Amino acid sequence: MKQQRRIAIIGGGFSGISILNHLVNSADYDNSFTIDVYDEETMMGNGHAYQEDSMHLLLNIPTHDMSFDNTEPNFESWLLSNGYTADTYVSRTLFGRYLRDRLHELCTAHENINLKYSTIDDLQYDASERCFTLFSEGTGHLYTHVFLTVGQLGYNDPYQLQGSSSYIFDPYPIEDKLSQCAGMKIGILGSGLSAIDCIRYLIIEKDAREVHAFSRSGEMPSVRGPHSELELRYFTSDALQKMISNDEISLKEVKALFLKELASHNIDWRLFYRRTGNTIQDLTYDLEHSEAVGQLQYVISKVNPIFSDIYQYLSRSDKRRFLDRYHPFIEENHSPMPIPVAEKIIEWANSGKLHIIEGIDSIDTSEFFDISTVDGKGFAMDVLINATGPSGDVLKNDSGIISKILEHFLASPDEFGGVLVDQNNHVISAKTGTVEGMFVLGALTYGSNYLSQSVHLLNSDAKKIAQQFYAERKQKEAQH
Ligand SMILES: Cc1cc2nc3c(=O)[nH]c(=O)nc-3n(C[C@H](O)[C@H](O)[C@H](O)COP(=O)(O)OP(=O)(O)OC[C@H]3O[C@@H](n4cnc5c(N)ncnc54)[C@H](O)[C@@H]3O)c2cc1C
Repeated sequence: MKQQRRIAIIGGGFSGISILNHLVNSADYDNSFTIDVYDEETMMGNGHAYQEDSMHLLLNIPTHDMSFDNTEPNFESWLLSNGYTADTYVSRTLFGRYLRDRLHELCTAHENINLKYSTIDDLQYDASERCFTLFSEGTGHLYTHVFLTVGQLGYNDPYQLQGSSSYIFDPYPIEDKLSQCAGMKIGILGSGLSAIDCIRYLIIEKDAREVHAFSRSGEMPSVRGPHSELELRYFTSDALQKMISNDEISLKEVKALFLKELASHNIDWRLFYRRTGNTIQDLTYDLEHSEAVGQLQYVISKVNPIFSDIYQYLSRSDKRRFLDRYHPFIEENHSPMPIPVAEKIIEWANSGKLHIIEGIDSIDTSEFFDISTVDGKGFAMDVLINATGPSGDVLKNDSGIISKILEHFLASPDEFGGVLVDQNNHVISAKTGTVEGMFVLGALTYGSNYLSQSVHLLNSDAKKIAQQFYAERKQKEAQH
């Protein structure tokens, strides 16, 4: 007889429901499973990125390329059958609604799934019994397996301003947090995708007269070039697997293979160095050379899952070298903004609505936010919005479930971000070693899975995790 499996998925965002999808749609799934998914009601199915918010917060991937998995209805056909237009770029909120529908379909098809509209406050592991107790609202619940998919860690606070009045520490949901700012002198900290969300909302929806975006470098993500259909010739999984020796791979060899791949498509590697530091000039360059930039971005997105699979085989010094020297160049080209978004930024900057200020030096909060730059300029802002993005350092998360699992030594911080996991995404405990019943997916695997937060990579990683779960189950049943 099959042993009863009680599974908990902590976090009902994209990662959590992708795991759920691959678990219940596996040929190995049967009714000996009970699966409880925990999250707040407003987050269940959509998670942070795709929550209900302003319709001007756009996906940065074209509609036809966003998906839950490869089954129907895909996002595009869902949009059309629900009365929306399938524009090239649509709002993240719509993708969230699509995901919620897909989750409800799964629940209707499988009566063993329970959506639990509450969060998990604590989690303990009994290694001798191999079971987990999850605490929610003061009550403990027993599980045989846990999938930890709690998403991004807490926000960075680079100038330690949290708690200052008129400082908006976390800007989401933007419609709630920023709606009162419009008549004030608004400063935004950061110039990445979250800063762009804030700028678009304030200028388009709130008709803000002027917005200042401050950052150390002033650099924004690149602009997405047209889709470029090309097949990888050299940088393939097979080639990289052959380069692994004694469980290590050399960064030098990986880099050489990558450059060979670029050369074989006539992509000039010097495109990585195209940026001047002048944001508007850089965005304009990308728009004017979108074909070439698009090819580079496309190779990066093709290479990403393959590189992510061998990322754990880099030695510590190679990983450090990669992150210091090469990662910033990859990152700039990895999650590009849509062309219409870039065009608006240029238009607003030219008309004086948007000021992109680089070289931020210090912020004084005595009366207003007095912001000084390294070249001696000063700006006084009434309100300051933190759009610097989430931190990768779990030790900075002193509240919530992450702090609890660190406290119990159930997980350990990875020096490269997130928590330590093995190559199958099992959590590694300093106390009991690899915890076979517990898998992690999403931002918490930052140090092991390279730039794996896009829906495509999360979906394929979720599939691998579900396959691993069933392989282990079969192995255990064969032993009994
Ligand atoms: C602003 C923004 C825009 C993005 N745009 C795109 C895009 O256009 N295309 C793309 O491919 N990717 C995009 N991404 C990447 C995005 O992170 C992933 O696509 C995906 O949404 C991550 O899903 P997740 O489930 O790992 O995390 P999340 O979506 O953060 O979900 C984690 C869930 O866990 C819940 N949770 C946390 N703690 C607990 C607890 N203790 N108990 C229970 N539940 C808990 C949270 O409430 C949350 O709902 C974007 C990300 C951000 C932040």
